[in-house]
Amino acid sequence: TRGYNFCSGPAMLPGAVMQRAQEELPDWQGTGMSVMELSHRSPEFVSVLEGAEARLRTLMNIPEDYAVLFMQGGATLQFSCVPMNLMSRGGAAEFLDTGAWSVKAIKEAGRYGETRVLASTKDEGYRRAVRADEFSVGADAAYLHYTPNETIGGVEFNYVPETGDVPLVADMSSCILSRPINVEDFDLIYAGAQKNIGPAGLTLVIVRKSLLGEVMHDTPSLLNYKAQADNGSMVNTPPTFAIYLAGLVFDWLEGQGGVRAIEGINAEKAALLYDAIDRSEFYRNPIALEHRSRMNVPFILADEQLNDRFLAEAGEAGLYNLQGHRSVGGMRASIYNAMPLAGVRGLVDFMKDFEQRHG
Ligand code: PLP
Repeated sequence: TRGYNFCSGPAMLPGAVMQRAQEELPDWQGTGMSVMELSHRSPEFVSVLEGAEARLRTLMNIPEDYAVLFMQGGATLQFSCVPMNLMSRGGAAEFLDTGAWSVKAIKEAGRYGETRVLASTKDEGYRRAVRADEFSVGADAAYLHYTPNETIGGVEFNYVPETGDVPLVADMSSCILSRPINVEDFDLIYAGAQKNIGPAGLTLVIVRKSLLGEVMHDTPSLLNYKAQADNGSMVNTPPTFAIYLAGLVFDWLEGQGGVRAIEGINAEKAALLYDAIDRSEFYRNPIALEHRSRMNVPFILADEQLNDRFLAEAGEAGLYNLQGHRSVGGMRASIYNAMPLAGVRGLVDFMKDFEQRHG
């Protein structure tokens, strides 16, 4: 009876993960208690955390000189955490502005020091990413921050910015684990978990160890990457159940063939949906072809008055949460890793049928 949930986040999780979690819920591996009830310092829970980290390291091929941190507060807290940890040595925080999430990151960083927006596509309605020849990073910058996939606008970079010696920071909340990346192209990657990783609240940080150390002096220890790295992400009680579920999702992804295999499926899903949109006069996606997101596909109906009917009929067909973000309107289908091809096929069939009846 599970439908297809196209929500941008919290998003659909794999059915197999739900089932395994349900089976293991009352008694985790013969401990006589739920994983939720295990002491976070117990060898059992430490094995859960270390197992999740090890699987993630394998999936993303994360080198030993990067720390993996399981934190809390969502990607939004990282908008503050990053400057607190990386701006103490001076220099401005530089940004590429490609949409709503870039703007929020820029605003928060402004509390901690100078920010510079090197390039923005705001004047073009955020309908494309910034191109590589439109900015150059200041040699004295503390870091360059960008959003590889803008979840609300549906805009995805098709390259990784070159920053020389300046640390590169990426908010990968809505694209992490969706395709292979070279972790060494980045100095700090962070992501809220609720799209491709697991339950909301858990926040993943992957940071080059050489960046750990000095932080702004009033940085809470919970937000201090070095303190978290030195304490195995246990400066306080970590979100144990969310870490356990993330581990199950990593396991599932491994079973799918890892990020290279899921990239192929994600590309197929996105092509199917964009193709259906582009072939029709009834639906439209406004984003530049080369910057269209594989994870979040916004589309507009020719007749906006049909929006409510579209959503209601989609819901009846088991296709949920297709409404676009309130700031852009229209529709948006988020098709993260856990969305099967069958879900996208179901959506495309529904869209064709809806168009025939109302177009
Ligand atoms: N950054 C991006 C790209 C996002 O998509 C989101 C949430 O959707 C956030 C940041 C904020 O994440 P959180 O709600 O975990 O703070």
